[in-house]
Amino acid sequence: VWVRVKNVCKQNGLLIMSVLAVVIGCLLGFFLRTRRLTEQEVKYFQFPGELLMRMLKMLILPLVVSSLMSGLAALDAKCSSRLGLITVSYYLWTTFVAVIVGIIMVSIIHPGGAAQKEDSEDSGKPIMSSADALLDLIRNMFPANLVQATFQQVRHHAARSDTKPNFALDLTPPPDVLIRTREGTSDGMNVLGIVIFSATMGIMLGRMGPNGSALVNFCQSLNEAVLRIVAIVIWYFPFGIVFLVAGKILEMSDPSAMGKKLGFYAVTVVFGLVLHGLFILPAMYFFITKKSPIVYIRGILQALLIALATSSSSATLPITFKCLLENNHIDRRIIRFVLPVGATINMDGTALYEAVAAIFIAQVNNYELDFGQIITISITATAASIGAAGIPQAGLVTMVIVLTSVGLPTDDITLIIAVDWALDRFRTMVNVMGDALATGIMAHICRKDFMKEGDGVSFKSGFS
Ligand code: ASP
Repeated sequence: VWVRVKNVCKQNGLLIMSVLAVVIGCLLGFFLRTRRLTEQEVKYFQFPGELLMRMLKMLILPLVVSSLMSGLAALDAKCSSRLGLITVSYYLWTTFVAVIVGIIMVSIIHPGGAAQKEDSEDSGKPIMSSADALLDLIRNMFPANLVQATFQQVRHHAARSDTKPNFALDLTPPPDVLIRTREGTSDGMNVLGIVIFSATMGIMLGRMGPNGSALVNFCQSLNEAVLRIVAIVIWYFPFGIVFLVAGKILEMSDPSAMGKKLGFYAVTVVFGLVLHGLFILPAMYFFITKKSPIVYIRGILQALLIALATSSSSATLPITFKCLLENNHIDRRIIRFVLPVGATINMDGTALYEAVAAIFIAQVNNYELDFGQIITISITATAASIGAAGIPQAGLVTMVIVLTSVGLPTDDITLIIAVDWALDRFRTMVNVMGDALATGIMAHICRKDFMKEGDGVSFKSGFS
């Protein structure tokens, strides 16, 4: 028995250490809360965790660019458009399912109290169309300046409820939302724009044949080197996670101050996430691939833990990549395309939460939503999740799009801020789970195309 335990520990050492790190981080955080540290002391304490975030973020840009360019260049035009079409359709489908799950949960549990129709004049008049939100999304797909796109956060041009509708107005969430999401707004990047550019470059490089091979080889080497850096950085994780988790617990507001409604709201989001992440998505994986989702999920546990600790699906991307490659043995060419695209546009957890939060705010305001408005929420929640960057609490900012589309007060976002840091962690886990399962499904669907590689039918020789 001892030998078996030793073997399991040896094989899963890092995973076990990461789980322990989360537990130790929680215990340490709650213990230190009783010590009443000063703000400065908390900041010093959070430093090792901050380093972990920085290391992960450092790897996002080279990983996304090199994966997409080398991945798409290796596919021939027919194969890449087939893979692209199936992947994007699947992503949109699962996001929409997540929104529906959220709407059903929030309608059943009704965390915001009993709704009564309110007759007040200005309640519920949409002040901006969701077309504006859509334009924003498209705008971000085409960054005017690529260099700027690597450090500038996505901009939104939505109107606030307390201002006149103005299409060109910059989105300014309530100041405390901005402060809470500073991490996301100041050092994020327009990953969507970078993904679109790199994917286009990859396709063009593939069409250029031998003329493009210099750049493709460069991207392949870069990709390989980033993964090697990940393999080293990963050993810092358990240490960093302890401080990341404990540091967040030190920062959080007093849980006893949380109202009953807010508690129910949090429970509704978590129930929805559990239902979608642990049942619906794995069931889809099972029905399509006929393989065990449990085995598959076991392979990505490390990535899920990092998602829990960092609240960032972009920061988790290098780890998800490594898990899928080494534990789940998914074809590298599929991962290179499906995963970065998923981490950018596929956020089931975020979409579900946006729908629940918007309807919760309506319930709290005693504002009864009609069927058309529910449809609007489901469409804008899907769009807002696509537009949200894979960084902590990005969903809280893009929620303004959903609220304004049905005329709900955006300032009410402050109602849910107290619990958002925790919910963010769970929805990020579902986001990462969705991307990883989708990669497995795409590998299964496209397996025949990929077997043709040897004939040179679907793949250009020389690239792996
Ligand atoms: N933190 C989430 C992610 O990185 C985005 C969000 O919902 O705020 O996937």
